[in-house]
Amino acid sequence: MLRVAVIGSGPSGVYTAQALVQQSRVPDVEVWILDRLPCPYGLVRYGVAPDHEKIKSLQGNLRGVLEHERVGFLGHVEVGARGLTPERLLELFHAVVYCVGAARDRPLNVPGEELPGSWSATDFVSWYSAHPDAAAPGFALDGGAAVVIGAGNVAVDVARVLARGADELRTTDLPERALGALASSGVREVHLVGRRGPSQAKFTTKELRELGSLPTAGIQVERADLELDPAYTGEAATLPAVNRRNLEVVRGWAALPAQVRARQIRLRFFLRPVEILAERGRVAGVRFERTVPDRDRDGGVRGTGTYEDIGAQLVLRAVGYRGAPLAGLPFDDRTGTVPHTAGRVLREGAPSPGEYVAGWIKRGPTGVIGTNRPCAKETVASLLDDAPALAARRVAGDAGAGLRESGQRPVEWPGWLAIEEAESALGRALGRPSVKIPDWPGLLGAARGGRGSVG
Ligand code: NAP
Repeated sequence: MLRVAVIGSGPSGVYTAQALVQQSRVPDVEVWILDRLPCPYGLVRYGVAPDHEKIKSLQGNLRGVLEHERVGFLGHVEVGARGLTPERLLELFHAVVYCVGAARDRPLNVPGEELPGSWSATDFVSWYSAHPDAAAPGFALDGGAAVVIGAGNVAVDVARVLARGADELRTTDLPERALGALASSGVREVHLVGRRGPSQAKFTTKELRELGSLPTAGIQVERADLELDPAYTGEAATLPAVNRRNLEVVRGWAALPAQVRARQIRLRFFLRPVEILAERGRVAGVRFERTVPDRDRDGGVRGTGTYEDIGAQLVLRAVGYRGAPLAGLPFDDRTGTVPHTAGRVLREGAPSPGEYVAGWIKRGPTGVIGTNRPCAKETVASLLDDAPALAARRVAGDAGAGLRESGQRPVEWPGWLAIEEAESALGRALGRPSVKIPDWPGLLGAARGGRGSVG
């Protein structure tokens, strides 16, 4: 028997568990998925935007793995400095696969970044996703304009949620508090600003295109921005297909007549943020420097010394995630990942027996959900190659007892099902579909009320 702990129940963790139980090289693998939260699914539950129901429905597939007879879910289990150490985990499990994602925001490093009214997009995402650790709502939705910095899919998500009317979101699992705030939002203009050109933006085309088909918001691009991009005015044949498709989307928008809608998304390019501007101690806008393409420069653009201010009362910085170090595990601060070869954690350059990584903490915060499947498979292939040596390691007879001895009070699968049922009941009471419970007492209370144990 090989007992494996997977730390994190997001897509990379669940795909790791799936690869471990859907193979025949090493029979009798038992997988325990541990998560800090009492709820599974990681960013599928707490990152995918509420109006992306199709992507959210992936939870159904992930659930199938979590309910597999050789897979167990233990929520509300802390790993790291304030919980189980990697050393302790190796006493309880033959192998541990860390699938802990990239928990921090990349900093923008411009003056004014910390002003009231300036938030990381992940704060905003956590709030509308009902993450129990979300910051208290202080988003300036009463102002008329918001600036979203960054040209990736997170920027698109937060811009789209800001630009949608609350009526469009009522049918999602958006928590009540966020729905109320968006219903009374005064934001009419959402500026979505990239520091490079449309041919270099990180959006995937489906997500970009969706911005142009919102029921109550219009989309606008600036021809002058687009024409700075050599691939827009000239040859684009050598570009990757996604960038070519993105160019076609913005080209189509540039040809549209001006639209008058309840809200407007203004998509801008070749503007890099240099300062978040203040008025009376709060965000009043963002100063951008105009950039132009320069192949020889890092990032492919250079500043021109000309500036443009965009007024806004809310700034959301969507410039990427970054992995966070986990106490007791090696960490490469330069890349924000755990050093590894083919998923085997490296300690002082050598593979550490029994320790593995998969997902964003292994390869950095890139790729869509499906990218995690081959990534997990590679790690599991390494683990299975090591299986004979791993199975020979002595581990505690009863991992559950070991976890409790270490002070953990897990929420087991029935406890999670009770949370799910409580969220459905909340939705029924509000005349909405299932509505998420946004706080720790509510989640743990619901789990305790169920058949499941919370310690
Ligand atoms: P991302 O795709 O890496 O995009 C980050 C953006 O921030 C880039 O446009 C980048 O520009 C810009 N940026 C970085 N530093 C900057 C700075 N100092 N000033 C101005 N701009 C800066 O990251 P993400 O949007 O956080 O997404 C993370 C991953 O999750 C991606 O793989 C994404 O596809 C995925 N995701 C997918 C979905 C979906 O499928 N619906 C939704 C959300 C997220 P440069 O390119 O110039 O560096």
